[in-house]
Amino acid sequence: MAKVAINLATGAIQQDELIVGIDLGTTNSLVAYVHPETRQPAAINDLGRGVLVPSVIHFPPDGSSPLVGSEAKDFLLSDPAHTIYSVKRLLGKSYRDLAGHAGELGYKVIDDDIEGLVKVRVGERFYSPIELSADILRELRQRAEHALKTPVRRAVITVPAYFNDSQRQATRDAGRLAGLEVLRIVNEPTAAALAYGLGLDPEETKTRAKTVAVYDLGGGTFDVSILRLHQGIFEVLSTHGDTWLGGDDMDRAVVNFWQEKFQLSPDFQRVPGLQQQLRLAAEMAKRYLSQHDDFTTQLLDQADNVTVVTLTRAEFDELIEPLIQRTLAACRQALADAGLVIGSQLSVASEKKGPALTTDNQQLITKLDAVLLVGGSTRVPRVYEAVSAFFGQPANNSLNPDEVVALGAAVQADILAGNRRDVLLLDVTPLTLGIETLGGLLDPIIPRNSKIPTRAGRQYTTSVDGQVNLKISVYQGERDLVSENRKLGEFVLSGIPAMPAGLPKIDVNFSLNADGILRVEAVELRSGTRQDVEIKPQYGLTDNQVEQMLMDSLTHAQQDVAARLLIEARTAAEQLLYQVGRFLTKNADLLSAAETAATEAKAAELRQTLTATARDLILQQMDALDELTRPFAERVMNESIQRAMAGKRIG
Ligand code: ADP
Ligand code: MG
Repeated sequence: MAKVAINLATGAIQQDELIVGIDLGTTNSLVAYVHPETRQPAAINDLGRGVLVPSVIHFPPDGSSPLVGSEAKDFLLSDPAHTIYSVKRLLGKSYRDLAGHAGELGYKVIDDDIEGLVKVRVGERFYSPIELSADILRELRQRAEHALKTPVRRAVITVPAYFNDSQRQATRDAGRLAGLEVLRIVNEPTAAALAYGLGLDPEETKTRAKTVAVYDLGGGTFDVSILRLHQGIFEVLSTHGDTWLGGDDMDRAVVNFWQEKFQLSPDFQRVPGLQQQLRLAAEMAKRYLSQHDDFTTQLLDQADNVTVVTLTRAEFDELIEPLIQRTLAACRQALADAGLVIGSQLSVASEKKGPALTTDNQQLITKLDAVLLVGGSTRVPRVYEAVSAFFGQPANNSLNPDEVVALGAAVQADILAGNRRDVLLLDVTPLTLGIETLGGLLDPIIPRNSKIPTRAGRQYTTSVDGQVNLKISVYQGERDLVSENRKLGEFVLSGIPAMPAGLPKIDVNFSLNADGILRVEAVELRSGTRQDVEIKPQYGLTDNQVEQMLMDSLTHAQQDVAARLLIEARTAAEQLLYQVGRFLTKNADLLSAAETAATEAKAAELRQTLTATARDLILQQMDALDELTRPFAERVMNESIQRAMAGKRIG
């Protein structure tokens, strides 16, 4: 239960609002919170359905409201056109960004505007990835509300370290659409470190920074980040990976292996039901081999012919070796980009190729402070071994790798809720932000590794006599030429009074908020012409668009809203009943028999109404119960204050 407090002014029983942490994953999503009494982060398991919610949405053809999670997953093969998965891959992206991968998804990604944000077509309707992500977030929110019996309005959501501004903005918009105030967008590797308690005590990293590698192998994506923790600051030194590499590839390797070795009927590739059976068996084999050495199962074809298929740990390890090597290549790159050389790797290198020297900007270390394993696929023993061998130290896997990101998000939420005032947590921007100057060069304004939030600016002038417009193009990246960096957007400052070149003074200011979202502003100082220009990430949504989507979701789903309101009323009523019950037992000696009886009667009335569908009635009775108990609460408060004072003397 959350903390309970009585408001001294009104006597009403109040509850501190809970902030949850959400891992919105490509394959699985989950929500976690910090338990107010144990102070430990825990993943939420509503109705014993498990903590992982598959990130899959199914739209029933009859137009009823979408299914999210395992129920939706069952439709992946039988009704792929109405079943959306991997929506995180589409967030904040244009068709062009998908670079040919759109066809690999089982549903229809719209390609009529290759520059704008992608949409997904399901039947007659078009959905943006933001709306689809919001469906998942709404499901998580409802599960949290149901399991914790308290309204959930505020959240911290994690994103991969490599997410750019538009992807972060899209994640935030999805949260808003799901009715959540997104207090912070946190990098997944940072969350993992927090879950392990690393960097939580700024004192601990005061004299010496800690360097941590976070290796995250999920269902369809892989990334590795090198973090530096210093005095409460989490810095992403480098991040690398492959957004099309993960556990699904392991499953596919097993399917192909079986098909060949056991000469399976081609129907297993053609008939959806058989395909599904084979894929599920492959995933089961993979998971089983994380604990055992041999796997055996039977496959049934359409004519009920039985084929026994087997897989040993050794066969599986061999199948996935190429995948593992690809992840290690990314680790090597990430270390190099972070300017780190691990001693043990150096000695291996020198044995092979003679002495390997470190350059001036590389730092030689004996080992990292920790190597954290994240993502379901790191449960594969061979992955653990390979990563530990690569970094020359045992990897940390004591926390559940599917949960660790959400747990860390919950810790961050707890910090933001002010429950850990000793902790100061800052993030830094991983890439330099700047604008294009003459000759296509990047002029850095906010250097990488700046603590955020931050503001910075610089003065510019015109290069041509009588120039009245100045185009300002904003880029992100470390390269000198803008063409090598990522363009975030551009705008034109117009209305500069005609002057000789070099005379106008144009201030360009960048402000980066705590989520890593950027705003740019330009002012011509000499003339006083001030033009406030706001830059949005290239594919971000305007506030109007978000409002429009909110409106749409209201008009299209009147009954959804009504159902939501009813559930919220019921949840609030259950909460009130619980508080009142607790109040009665705790203060039995301070209340008269009549007061207790009256309260119990009103409570019983409310309890009966709970099953009805009349929201208004529930609210009315809640008010009535609240009104009845308020004076009692006030009196109890006063008496307990007097009791407390009686023992003490003032002055
Ligand atoms: P994401 O972060 O992409 O949403 P997850 O971290 O939830 O993904 O990882 C999902 C992947 O983990 C799936 O491919 C699943 O098969 C795999 N996985 C889960 N448990 C195990 C296990 N015990 N052994 C091997 N792989 C596993
Ligand atoms: Mg993940």
